[in-house]
Amino acid sequence: MAEQKRDYYEVLGVEKNADDAALKKAYRALAKKYHPDMNPGDAEAEKKFKEASEAYAVLSDPEKRRQYDQFGHAAFDNGAGGGSGFGGFDFNSADFGDIFGDIFSDLFGGSRRAGGARSGPMKGANLRTSVRVTFEEAVFGTEKEVELTVKEECKTCHGTGAKPGTSPETCTKCGGKGQVVFTQQSFFGTVRNVQTCPDCNGSGKVIKDKCPDCRGTGYVPMKKRFAVSIPAGIDNGQCKRLAGQGEPGINGGPRGDVLVEVIVGKHPIFQRQDVNIYSTVPISFAVAALGGEVVIDTVDGKVVYDVKAGTQTDTRVRLKGKGVPSLRNNDVRGDHYVTLVIQTPERLSNEAKELLRKFDAESGDSLHAAERVNGESHKEKKKRGFFNK
Ligand SMILES: [Zn+2]
Ligand SMILES: [Zn+2]
Repeated sequence: MAEQKRDYYEVLGVEKNADDAALKKAYRALAKKYHPDMNPGDAEAEKKFKEASEAYAVLSDPEKRRQYDQFGHAAFDNGAGGGSGFGGFDFNSADFGDIFGDIFSDLFGGSRRAGGARSGPMKGANLRTSVRVTFEEAVFGTEKEVELTVKEECKTCHGTGAKPGTSPETCTKCGGKGQVVFTQQSFFGTVRNVQTCPDCNGSGKVIKDKCPDCRGTGYVPMKKRFAVSIPAGIDNGQCKRLAGQGEPGINGGPRGDVLVEVIVGKHPIFQRQDVNIYSTVPISFAVAALGGEVVIDTVDGKVVYDVKAGTQTDTRVRLKGKGVPSLRNNDVRGDHYVTLVIQTPERLSNEAKELLRKFDAESGDSLHAAERVNGESHKEKKKRGFFNK
């Protein structure tokens, strides 16, 4: 042997226990990278391509792989095993044809087919739309409707695309198979390539007289209404998928999906972050000082909350379980956080003013006096509070 041969698994860059799919994937990537048509005149690429092809030919064949695992390269040395070196490998196997067909399609076949579609059934495209819901609808879920223009089967030709009275004919180029096989002479022999038929785009049929209503496509655009069930807990920007309601599939593939983006409206007093709700509630100075009940709006309705005596402004309280249901488990709900903000009275009756002056005198080191005498900072005042004597 002129040269030490590299381990086949190493050549393909796969594990010893790689399955068929992994082998195929690895080889496909290498074949595409080093294919002579992609690297004209590059001897190194050609060598790599041959090396990878050989490794794949052996490892994709269960019997050869078993021999290789047992004896290594010696299994295929001249005179040993069943093979006779590189020339003995069958590059015309269906597997190689399949892989090369894909590679050739990628390299040369893209332009003739709409959207670069490959042969065989393909899922149709997804359609996108959006729906607006209110803050509360997003919290508790709702039913909505969206209207979309989707392609529906043409009633004139029943989806065949052929003018009434005529019918699609079997494609003569591919004989109705949708694929054409061509052979290419290569440095290691004849390679069988499979490609999507360019005449029928893989459908196997050609339409001579096109249906006038759908211009031969078999589909006409139609406005359609869809019911959209908005689940409780959905957040702004999240999508609801209507499976199988999108564009028709290609060559018998399933329809795409409709993706409905949910746009949640703003609420005048509630803000939301994930499953928690936030709001600000004003309380009077007297309630803050003496304690008392305040009524707080929640998504569940009004809640009476007991404010503790001596509550400072910007105190945050938690209303457990009054938030948004979790999208994954509606039984689990977030919380509602309320920031209590003390309102300073602006218009006071003479009587109220008199009472406040009395309060001020009674509370001793009142704020304005302290400020004049000591020049205390706002922070210190707050720390000391109103009721210190
Ligand atoms: Zn039609
Ligand atoms: Zn054809």
